[in-house]
Amino acid sequence: MQLEVKTVLNRIQHFVGFVYQDVRLCSSRGKLRIEARIEPHGAMRAKCSECRRPAPGYDRLPERWWLFVPLWGIVTWFAYAPRRVECPEHGVVVEHIPWSEGKRPLTTAMMGFLARWARHLSWRQTARAFQTSWEAVYRSVEWFVQWGLARRSLEGIEAIGIDEIHWGKGKRADNFLTVIYQIDSHCRRLLWVGRRRTQATLRRGLAALGPAVISGLRYVCSDMWRAYLKVIAAQAPQALHVLDRFHITMHLNQAVDQVRRAETGRLRGRPMAEKLKHMRWKLLRRGSRVRGLAKQRLWGLLRTKLATGRAWMLKETFQDFWRYRSLSWAAAFLDVWCTRALRSRIEPMKKVARMLRTHEELLLNWFRAKGEISSGAVEGLNNKIRVVTRRAYGFRTYDAMEIALFHTLGRLPEPETTHRFC
Ligand SMILES: [Zn+2]
Repeated sequence: MQLEVKTVLNRIQHFVGFVYQDVRLCSSRGKLRIEARIEPHGAMRAKCSECRRPAPGYDRLPERWWLFVPLWGIVTWFAYAPRRVECPEHGVVVEHIPWSEGKRPLTTAMMGFLARWARHLSWRQTARAFQTSWEAVYRSVEWFVQWGLARRSLEGIEAIGIDEIHWGKGKRADNFLTVIYQIDSHCRRLLWVGRRRTQATLRRGLAALGPAVISGLRYVCSDMWRAYLKVIAAQAPQALHVLDRFHITMHLNQAVDQVRRAETGRLRGRPMAEKLKHMRWKLLRRGSRVRGLAKQRLWGLLRTKLATGRAWMLKETFQDFWRYRSLSWAAAFLDVWCTRALRSRIEPMKKVARMLRTHEELLLNWFRAKGEISSGAVEGLNNKIRVVTRRAYGFRTYDAMEIALFHTLGRLPEPETTHRFC
Protein backbone atom coordinates (compact mmCIF):
# COMPACT_ATOMS: atom_id res chain seq x y z
CA MET A 1 0.00 0.00 0.00
CA GLN A 2 1.21 3.45 -0.91
CA LEU A 3 1.42 5.65 2.21
CA GLU A 4 0.23 9.19 1.86
CA VAL A 5 0.69 11.86 4.49
CA LYS A 6 -3.01 12.59 4.15
CA THR A 7 -3.72 9.03 5.32
CA VAL A 8 -1.57 9.55 8.39
CA LEU A 9 -3.24 12.87 9.17
CA ASN A 10 -6.71 11.39 8.78
CA ARG A 11 -5.71 8.64 11.13
CA ILE A 12 -4.10 10.69 13.90
CA GLN A 13 -5.88 14.02 13.57
CA HIS A 14 -9.27 13.74 11.95
CA PHE A 15 -11.71 16.62 12.39
CA VAL A 16 -15.39 15.99 11.78
CA GLY A 17 -16.68 18.38 9.14
CA PHE A 18 -13.25 19.06 7.63
CA VAL A 19 -11.04 17.31 5.10
CA TYR A 20 -7.36 17.50 4.24
CA GLN A 21 -7.39 18.93 0.73
CA ASP A 22 -3.78 18.51 -0.22
CA VAL A 23 -0.52 18.02 1.60
CA ARG A 24 2.67 19.39 0.12
CA LEU A 25 6.33 19.20 0.89
CA CYS A 26 7.86 22.61 0.25
CA SER A 27 11.39 23.79 0.51
CA SER A 28 12.47 27.34 1.09
CA ARG A 29 16.07 28.38 1.68
CA GLY A 30 17.11 24.76 2.05
CA LYS A 31 14.57 24.08 4.80
CA LEU A 32 11.77 21.60 4.37
CA ARG A 33 8.23 22.29 5.45
CA ILE A 34 4.96 20.41 5.14
CA GLU A 35 1.83 22.36 4.29
CA ALA A 36 -1.54 20.74 4.81
CA ARG A 37 -4.47 22.59 3.32
CA ILE A 38 -7.81 22.01 5.01
CA GLU A 39 -11.25 22.52 3.47
CA PRO A 40 -14.72 22.26 4.95
CA HIS A 41 -16.60 19.05 4.28
CA GLY A 42 -19.09 19.93 1.53
CA ALA A 43 -22.11 18.30 3.11
CA MET A 44 -21.72 19.74 6.60
CA ARG A 45 -22.61 23.16 7.89
CA ALA A 46 -20.21 25.23 9.95
CA LYS A 47 -20.82 25.58 13.67
CA CYS A 48 -21.08 28.76 15.68
CA SER A 49 -17.96 29.21 17.81
CA GLU A 50 -20.06 30.45 20.72
CA CYS A 51 -22.71 27.75 21.01
CA ARG A 52 -21.24 25.04 18.74
CA ARG A 53 -24.59 24.69 16.94
CA PRO A 54 -24.70 24.46 13.12
CA ALA A 55 -25.59 27.78 11.55
CA PRO A 56 -26.04 29.12 8.03
CA GLY A 57 -22.88 30.38 6.35
CA TYR A 58 -22.17 34.10 6.02
CA ASP A 59 -18.81 34.60 4.31
CA ARG A 60 -15.23 33.41 4.31
CA LEU A 61 -12.18 35.02 5.94
CA PRO A 62 -8.67 35.07 4.47
CA GLU A 63 -6.50 31.99 4.93
CA ARG A 64 -4.82 31.52 8.31
CA TRP A 65 -1.88 29.33 9.33
CA TRP A 66 -1.47 27.09 12.36
CA LEU A 67 1.67 25.30 13.42
CA PHE A 68 1.14 21.57 13.81
CA VAL A 69 3.31 18.92 15.47
CA PRO A 70 6.39 18.34 13.29
CA LEU A 71 6.14 15.20 11.15
CA TRP A 72 9.46 13.35 11.01
CA GLY A 73 11.06 16.47 12.39
CA ILE A 74 9.76 18.57 9.50
CA VAL A 75 7.95 21.78 10.45
CA THR A 76 4.29 21.26 9.59
CA TRP A 77 1.59 23.87 8.99
CA PHE A 78 -2.16 23.76 8.60
CA ALA A 79 -3.75 26.30 6.26
CA TYR A 80 -7.43 27.08 6.36
CA ALA A 81 -9.72 29.95 5.44
CA PRO A 82 -12.28 30.14 8.28
CA ARG A 83 -15.93 30.65 7.47
CA ARG A 84 -18.18 33.03 9.29
CA VAL A 85 -21.67 31.95 10.23
CA GLU A 86 -24.84 33.82 11.01
CA CYS A 87 -26.01 32.27 14.25
CA PRO A 88 -29.61 33.06 15.18
CA GLU A 89 -28.45 33.66 18.73
CA HIS A 90 -24.93 35.11 18.41
CA GLY A 91 -25.09 36.96 15.10
CA VAL A 92 -22.21 36.91 12.62
CA VAL A 93 -19.30 35.05 14.23
CA VAL A 94 -16.34 32.94 13.15
CA GLU A 95 -17.06 29.23 12.97
CA HIS A 96 -15.80 26.75 15.51
CA ILE A 97 -12.38 25.45 14.42
CA PRO A 98 -11.55 22.26 16.36
CA TRP A 99 -7.74 22.51 16.09
CA SER A 100 -7.61 26.18 17.00
CA GLU A 101 -7.82 28.15 20.22
CA GLY A 102 -8.64 31.82 19.84
CA LYS A 103 -6.13 33.76 17.81
CA ARG A 104 -3.19 31.54 18.66
CA PRO A 105 -1.05 30.55 15.67
CA LEU A 106 -0.49 27.03 17.03
CA THR A 107 -2.81 24.06 16.82
CA THR A 108 -4.02 22.73 20.17
CA ALA A 109 -2.21 19.48 19.34
CA MET A 110 1.07 21.38 19.05
CA MET A 111 0.42 23.40 22.21
CA GLY A 112 -0.25 20.24 24.19
CA PHE A 113 2.80 18.60 22.63
CA LEU A 114 5.12 21.49 23.54
CA ALA A 115 3.61 21.93 27.00
CA ARG A 116 4.12 18.25 27.86
CA TRP A 117 7.71 18.32 26.65
CA ALA A 118 8.32 21.52 28.62
CA ARG A 119 7.98 19.47 31.80
CA HIS A 120 11.00 17.38 30.84
CA LEU A 121 13.16 19.92 29.05
CA SER A 122 13.75 23.60 29.68
CA TRP A 123 11.61 25.93 27.59
CA ARG A 124 14.63 26.90 25.53
CA GLN A 125 15.52 23.28 24.86
CA THR A 126 11.93 22.47 23.95
CA ALA A 127 11.85 25.34 21.45
CA ARG A 128 15.12 24.23 19.90
CA ALA A 129 14.20 20.55 19.73
CA PHE A 130 10.97 21.23 17.84
CA GLN A 131 12.20 24.12 15.72
CA THR A 132 10.03 26.76 17.23
CA SER A 133 10.46 29.85 19.39
CA TRP A 134 10.72 30.28 23.15
CA GLU A 135 7.65 32.46 22.85
CA ALA A 136 5.69 29.61 21.24
CA VAL A 137 6.61 27.27 24.09
CA TYR A 138 5.68 29.92 26.65
CA ARG A 139 2.27 30.51 25.03
CA SER A 140 1.65 26.78 24.86
CA VAL A 141 2.40 26.20 28.53
CA GLU A 142 0.33 29.25 29.37
CA TRP A 143 -2.67 27.85 27.50
CA PHE A 144 -2.19 24.46 29.13
CA VAL A 145 -1.98 25.94 32.64
CA GLN A 146 -4.90 28.31 32.17
CA TRP A 147 -7.02 25.44 30.89
CA GLY A 148 -6.16 23.45 33.99
CA LEU A 149 -6.61 26.32 36.44
CA ALA A 150 -10.08 27.00 35.08
CA ARG A 151 -11.07 23.38 35.68
CA ARG A 152 -9.27 22.36 38.86
CA SER A 153 -11.28 21.40 41.89
CA LEU A 154 -10.66 23.12 45.20
CA GLU A 155 -12.90 20.81 47.17
CA GLY A 156 -11.81 18.94 50.26
CA ILE A 157 -8.79 21.11 51.09
CA GLU A 158 -8.16 20.76 54.83
CA ALA A 159 -4.51 21.62 55.29
CA ILE A 160 -2.51 24.37 53.62
CA GLY A 161 1.09 25.47 53.97
CA ILE A 162 2.13 29.06 53.46
CA ASP A 163 5.69 29.78 52.54
CA GLU A 164 7.90 32.54 51.25
CA ILE A 165 10.34 31.91 48.44
CA HIS A 166 13.23 34.03 47.32
CA TRP A 167 13.86 34.24 43.60
CA GLY A 168 16.09 36.16 41.23
CA LYS A 169 18.94 38.37 42.35
CA GLY A 170 18.93 40.73 45.33
CA LYS A 171 16.78 41.05 48.41
CA ARG A 172 14.26 43.60 47.27
CA ALA A 173 10.62 43.10 48.22
CA ASP A 174 9.90 42.07 44.65
CA ASN A 175 12.36 39.20 44.93
CA PHE A 176 10.06 37.34 47.29
CA LEU A 177 7.06 35.24 46.51
CA THR A 178 4.31 34.05 48.76
CA VAL A 179 3.13 30.57 47.91
CA ILE A 180 0.19 28.58 49.22
CA TYR A 181 0.30 24.79 49.03
CA GLN A 182 -2.23 22.14 49.77
CA ILE A 183 -0.52 19.69 52.14
CA ASP A 184 -3.27 17.13 52.76
CA SER A 185 -1.94 13.60 52.75
CA HIS A 186 -4.11 12.72 49.72
CA CYS A 187 -3.03 15.71 47.67
CA ARG A 188 -0.01 17.96 47.78
CA ARG A 189 0.12 20.70 45.24
CA LEU A 190 0.69 24.35 44.58
CA LEU A 191 -2.50 26.36 45.00
CA TRP A 192 -1.42 29.96 44.61
CA VAL A 193 1.62 32.17 43.96
CA GLY A 194 1.91 35.92 44.44
CA ARG A 195 4.57 38.56 44.38
CA ARG A 196 6.03 39.85 47.68
CA ARG A 197 5.39 38.59 51.20
CA THR A 198 3.24 41.21 52.83
CA GLN A 199 -0.11 40.96 54.57
CA ALA A 200 -1.72 42.25 51.40
CA THR A 201 -0.11 39.46 49.37
CA LEU A 202 -1.44 36.73 51.62
CA ARG A 203 -4.86 38.34 51.78
CA ARG A 204 -4.94 38.34 47.99
CA GLY A 205 -4.00 34.67 47.95
CA LEU A 206 -6.65 33.61 50.43
CA ALA A 207 -9.23 35.67 48.57
CA ALA A 208 -8.27 33.92 45.34
CA LEU A 209 -8.93 30.53 46.93
CA GLY A 210 -12.36 31.76 47.97
CA PRO A 211 -14.33 31.78 51.22
CA ALA A 212 -15.51 28.18 50.80
CA VAL A 213 -11.93 26.90 50.87
CA ILE A 214 -10.87 29.14 53.76
CA SER A 215 -13.79 28.20 55.98
CA GLY A 216 -13.11 24.51 55.35
CA LEU A 217 -9.49 24.69 56.52
CA ARG A 218 -8.50 22.69 59.58
CA TYR A 219 -4.74 23.23 59.55
CA VAL A 220 -2.53 26.05 58.41
CA CYS A 221 1.19 25.55 58.45
CA SER A 222 3.58 28.48 58.16
CA ASP A 223 6.72 30.21 59.25
CA MET A 224 6.86 32.81 62.04
CA TRP A 225 6.79 35.68 59.58
CA ARG A 226 4.65 38.28 61.35
CA ALA A 227 2.69 39.41 58.29
CA TYR A 228 1.47 35.86 57.75
CA LEU A 229 0.64 35.20 61.43
CA LYS A 230 -1.67 38.21 61.56
CA VAL A 231 -3.55 37.42 58.38
CA ILE A 232 -4.00 33.75 59.24
CA ALA A 233 -5.33 34.57 62.72
CA ALA A 234 -7.81 37.03 61.24
CA GLN A 235 -8.98 35.05 58.22
CA ALA A 236 -8.92 31.42 59.31
CA PRO A 237 -9.55 31.54 63.07
CA GLN A 238 -11.10 28.06 63.08
CA ALA A 239 -7.98 26.40 61.70
CA LEU A 240 -5.19 25.14 63.92
CA HIS A 241 -2.16 27.21 63.07
CA VAL A 242 1.01 25.16 63.17
CA LEU A 243 4.56 26.45 62.98
CA ASP A 244 6.34 24.21 60.62
CA ARG A 245 9.26 22.06 61.72
CA PHE A 246 11.09 22.78 58.51
CA HIS A 247 11.03 26.53 59.11
CA ILE A 248 12.12 26.25 62.75
CA THR A 249 15.09 24.11 61.69
CA MET A 250 15.92 26.73 59.09
CA HIS A 251 15.99 29.50 61.73
CA LEU A 252 18.25 27.41 63.95
CA ASN A 253 20.60 26.69 61.07
CA GLN A 254 20.76 30.34 60.11
CA ALA A 255 21.64 31.23 63.70
CA VAL A 256 24.46 28.64 63.81
CA ASP A 257 25.79 29.95 60.52
CA GLN A 258 25.72 33.51 61.80
CA VAL A 259 27.71 32.48 64.89
CA ARG A 260 30.26 30.66 62.73
CA ARG A 261 30.77 33.63 60.44
CA ALA A 262 31.18 36.09 63.30
CA GLU A 263 33.60 33.80 65.10
CA THR A 264 35.64 33.15 61.95
CA GLY A 265 36.05 36.93 61.69
CA ARG A 266 37.09 37.26 65.32
CA LEU A 267 39.67 34.48 65.10
CA ARG A 268 41.24 35.53 61.84
CA GLY A 269 44.98 34.76 61.81
CA ARG A 270 44.84 32.76 65.05
CA PRO A 271 45.46 28.97 65.15
CA MET A 272 41.91 28.34 66.46
CA ALA A 273 40.53 29.67 63.17
CA GLU A 274 41.64 26.39 61.54
CA LYS A 275 38.91 24.58 63.48
CA LEU A 276 36.21 26.56 61.69
CA LYS A 277 37.55 26.23 58.17
CA HIS A 278 35.27 24.47 55.66
CA MET A 279 32.80 23.63 58.42
CA ARG A 280 29.73 25.35 57.03
CA TRP A 281 27.89 22.35 55.57
CA LYS A 282 29.02 20.01 58.32
CA LEU A 283 27.43 22.34 60.84
CA LEU A 284 24.20 22.75 58.92
CA ARG A 285 23.52 19.08 58.42
CA ARG A 286 21.71 17.04 60.97
CA GLY A 287 24.35 15.65 63.36
CA SER A 288 23.37 12.03 62.73
CA ARG A 289 24.07 12.53 59.04
CA VAL A 290 27.62 13.76 59.47
CA ARG A 291 29.96 10.79 59.15
CA GLY A 292 33.62 9.78 58.85
CA LEU A 293 36.29 12.45 58.75
CA ALA A 294 33.69 15.22 58.87
CA LYS A 295 32.40 13.79 62.12
CA GLN A 296 35.89 13.76 63.65
CA ARG A 297 36.37 17.40 62.74
CA LEU A 298 32.97 18.25 64.20
CA TRP A 299 33.84 16.54 67.50
CA GLY A 300 37.17 18.35 67.44
CA LEU A 301 35.30 21.63 67.16
CA LEU A 302 32.96 20.75 70.02
CA ARG A 303 35.91 20.08 72.37
CA THR A 304 37.27 23.60 71.84
CA LYS A 305 34.35 25.37 73.61
CA LEU A 306 34.13 27.82 70.74
CA ALA A 307 30.76 29.59 70.47
CA THR A 308 30.13 27.87 67.13
CA GLY A 309 30.38 24.46 68.76
CA ARG A 310 28.05 25.45 71.56
CA ALA A 311 25.55 26.93 69.11
CA TRP A 312 25.67 23.69 67.14
CA MET A 313 24.96 21.67 70.29
CA LEU A 314 21.92 23.82 71.04
CA LYS A 315 20.61 23.36 67.52
CA GLU A 316 21.19 19.64 67.69
CA THR A 317 19.42 19.16 71.04
CA PHE A 318 16.39 20.97 69.72
CA GLN A 319 15.74 18.01 67.40
CA ASP A 320 14.53 16.12 70.48
CA PHE A 321 11.62 18.54 70.76
CA TRP A 322 9.90 16.98 67.75
CA ARG A 323 10.13 13.48 69.18
CA TYR A 324 7.79 14.07 72.11
CA ARG A 325 4.36 12.51 72.13
CA SER A 326 2.95 14.35 75.09
CA LEU A 327 2.16 18.01 74.80
CA SER A 328 3.13 18.84 78.38
CA TRP A 329 6.52 17.13 78.09
CA ALA A 330 7.19 18.97 74.86
CA ALA A 331 6.26 22.24 76.57
CA ALA A 332 8.61 21.42 79.47
CA PHE A 333 11.42 20.62 77.06
CA LEU A 334 10.86 23.85 75.16
CA ASP A 335 11.08 25.80 78.41
CA VAL A 336 14.35 24.16 79.45
CA TRP A 337 15.85 24.57 76.00
CA CYS A 338 14.94 28.26 75.78
CA THR A 339 16.38 28.92 79.26
CA ARG A 340 19.65 27.27 78.22
CA ALA A 341 19.79 29.18 74.97
CA LEU A 342 19.07 32.48 76.70
CA ARG A 343 21.93 31.87 79.12
CA SER A 344 24.35 30.85 76.37
CA ARG A 345 25.58 34.41 75.76
CA ILE A 346 25.37 33.66 72.01
CA GLU A 347 23.18 36.40 70.60
CA PRO A 348 21.81 34.65 67.48
CA MET A 349 20.75 31.62 69.56
CA LYS A 350 19.16 33.89 72.16
CA LYS A 351 17.21 35.53 69.38
CA VAL A 352 15.82 32.19 68.20
CA ALA A 353 14.93 31.27 71.79
CA ARG A 354 13.03 34.54 72.27
CA MET A 355 11.19 33.94 69.02
CA LEU A 356 10.21 30.41 70.03
CA ARG A 357 9.02 31.62 73.45
CA THR A 358 6.84 34.28 71.84
CA HIS A 359 5.21 31.71 69.59
CA GLU A 360 5.11 28.88 72.08
CA GLU A 361 1.41 28.14 71.58
CA LEU A 362 1.70 27.92 67.81
CA LEU A 363 4.78 25.77 68.17
CA LEU A 364 2.96 23.36 70.47
CA ASN A 365 0.14 23.13 67.93
CA TRP A 366 2.51 20.86 66.06
CA PHE A 367 1.73 18.20 68.66
CA ARG A 368 -1.99 18.92 68.57
CA ALA A 369 -1.96 18.35 64.81
CA LYS A 370 0.37 15.39 64.94
CA GLY A 371 -0.50 12.68 62.47
CA GLU A 372 -2.92 14.94 60.64
CA ILE A 373 -0.45 16.84 58.50
CA SER A 374 2.68 15.42 57.01
CA SER A 375 5.66 17.28 58.38
CA GLY A 376 7.77 16.93 55.26
CA ALA A 377 5.18 18.28 52.84
CA VAL A 378 6.09 21.95 53.05
CA GLU A 379 9.79 21.19 52.84
CA GLY A 380 9.30 18.90 49.83
CA LEU A 381 7.25 21.46 47.90
CA ASN A 382 9.63 24.22 48.92
CA ASN A 383 12.56 22.26 47.47
CA LYS A 384 10.72 21.60 44.22
CA ILE A 385 9.81 25.26 43.84
CA ARG A 386 13.45 26.20 44.28
CA VAL A 387 14.41 23.79 41.52
CA VAL A 388 11.96 25.47 39.14
CA THR A 389 12.86 29.05 40.06
CA ARG A 390 16.57 28.33 39.75
CA ARG A 391 16.51 26.16 36.66
CA ALA A 392 18.02 27.84 33.66
CA TYR A 393 14.60 28.19 32.09
CA GLY A 394 15.42 31.71 31.12
CA PHE A 395 12.14 33.04 32.46
CA ARG A 396 12.06 36.54 31.18
CA THR A 397 9.18 37.68 33.32
CA TYR A 398 7.51 36.94 36.61
CA ASP A 399 4.42 35.73 34.73
CA ALA A 400 6.44 33.12 32.86
CA MET A 401 7.83 31.80 36.13
CA GLU A 402 4.43 31.68 37.75
CA ILE A 403 3.14 29.62 34.84
CA ALA A 404 6.12 27.28 35.06
CA LEU A 405 5.44 26.76 38.77
CA PHE A 406 1.82 25.78 38.21
CA HIS A 407 2.87 23.63 35.27
CA THR A 408 5.21 21.51 37.37
CA LEU A 409 3.56 21.64 40.82
CA GLY A 410 -0.10 22.47 40.30
CA ARG A 411 -1.33 18.93 39.53
CA LEU A 412 -3.76 20.53 37.12
CA PRO A 413 -6.20 18.68 34.89
CA GLU A 414 -4.96 18.56 31.30
CA PRO A 415 -6.71 19.13 27.99
CA GLU A 416 -7.09 16.05 25.82
CA THR A 417 -4.93 16.52 22.77
CA THR A 418 -3.38 14.07 20.36
CA HIS A 419 0.35 13.36 20.31
CA ARG A 420 0.84 12.38 23.91
CA PHE A 421 4.39 11.31 23.23
CA CYS A 422 5.56 11.94 26.74
ZN1 LIG B 1 -24.31 30.59 18.44
